[in-house]
Formats: sequence, C-alpha cells, structure tokens
Amino acid sequence: MEKLEQLYEGKAKKVFRTDDPDVYLVDYKDDATAGNGAKKGTIRGKGVINNRVTNHLMRMLEEKGIPTHYVKELSERETLVKRVTIVPLEVIVRNVAAGSLSKRLGLPEGTKLKSTVLEYCYKDDALGDPMVNEYHIAAIGAATPEELKTIADYSMKINEILTEYLKDVGIELIDFKLEFGRDKDGKIILADEISPDTCRFWDVKTHAHLDKDLFRRDLGGEEEAYKEVMKRLLGE
Ligand code: UDP
Repeated sequence: MEKLEQLYEGKAKKVFRTDDPDVYLVDYKDDATAGNGAKKGTIRGKGVINNRVTNHLMRMLEEKGIPTHYVKELSERETLVKRVTIVPLEVIVRNVAAGSLSKRLGLPEGTKLKSTVLEYCYKDDALGDPMVNEYHIAAIGAATPEELKTIADYSMKINEILTEYLKDVGIELIDFKLEFGRDKDGKIILADEISPDTCRFWDVKTHAHLDKDLFRRDLGGEEEAYKEVMKRLLGE
C-alpha cells in the first residue's frame, strides 16, 4: 500500500490518502493540546504509544463484535484504517465523575455514578464542541435517530468490554471519548482512537492518573504514565 498525499492534519494525527480509495493512513504525532487548543506541548513518545494502544484495543473490540475502522498497523506510528465520513459527534461515556461532569454537577472527582452516563458533543472547534442531546442531533442532522441508537448501543457495549479488560491490568476506566464514522456502505463503525489522550485511566489501587490529565493539569509525569499504560496492555 502506497502512502500518498496528506489530506488532513489534526491536533494529534495526520491523515494520508493511499492507492486504495477505501483506505486511509493515519500517522500519530507527539503533539499534545488541551482546552480546545489553548495549551500546546509535546509528550515524547506519545504518538507511538497511542498508535499501538489504539490498535490493540480496536483489535480486541473487533473480536468481541464491535465493527471498527482498523485495518493494519504499518509501523510504530502509522496505521491503515477504513475511509469513513466522520459523524460530527464526540460520544463521552462516564462511569465515575471527573473533569467537566464534576464541575457541572458539583460531584467530587472519583464519585462513582449510579449508572453509566452518555453525553454527546457536536464537533465544531469554532463553537468549542458544545454539548447536544438527541433532539439537537436530529434537528441539525448530525446523525439520524437510527444511527444514534447504533452509536449509543455500541458505546455502552464498548464501555462494558473495556472496563472489564482494563480492570485485569489494574486500570479503572473513569470516562472516555469515542468517535464513529460511516463506511462506504453507510454502516456505522468505530473510528478515531482509544488512548490515554481520550480516556481517563486511574490506577485501581493508588488512583494515580495514567492519562492526559497529567498534561492538562500540569501535574507532570505524563511520559512515564503513557509508557506504563502501554506496558500494562502490551507487555512492553
Ligand atoms: N475527551 C476527549 N476529547 C475532548 C474532550 C474530552 O478525548 O475533546 C475525553 C477526556 O479525555 C475524558 C472524557 O472525554 O476522558 C471526558 O472529558 P470531560 O468532558 O470531563 O472534559 P475535560 O475535563 O477533559 O475538559
């Protein structure tokens, strides 16, 4: 498969065309941003870790029946994925209160939620990714009600699978963000990444952050924490 011209450069990844029109190549960068781009920096080695961790988790989810965009890992930072049109929503799944939910509802971080919370944000940098509900989503046509039902069902299932899987390596899954796309047949599949950039991972015993909150909050130790996640998941 040939790497052709760059189509897009995001905050953490670049996307390239390939000689197969249905396959794109994703190249993970070490660049890190927080607060909708207000804070910028680098986390050394992050691109390699996020690429490998995402692929590991996507392969595991595929085996358990979740359709994903994953095709093939090409190198430490490069992966082939199915071309999709991204549904312009960030799906946030929460098991424990943290971050913006803690602020909004006045729940101390670490408060176990009585049931899983699903939230949707409309992907629009200029608007700051506003939170929307199912009515807004239908009204603006971001997804059809049928698509949203599929997205919600997959998201809850992914949460169950990941929560169990991570518990075995001593990681508590606090919350995470997913993105979905439509493949060439219009089918909804999981896209984007699942990594310490997009999930809150806490050590089960110490509750130490093993994720991007270390960078967002200037706590330090993010390079080591990302390495620790890869070590626990991939053994290296
Ligand atoms: N998240 C993300 N990208 C975003 C916003 C949130 O990956 O643009 C993830 C974040 O890592 C966390 C979860 O979604 O695991 C919930 O984030 P929250 O809404 O609490 O926002 P934050 O406190 O990060 O601003």
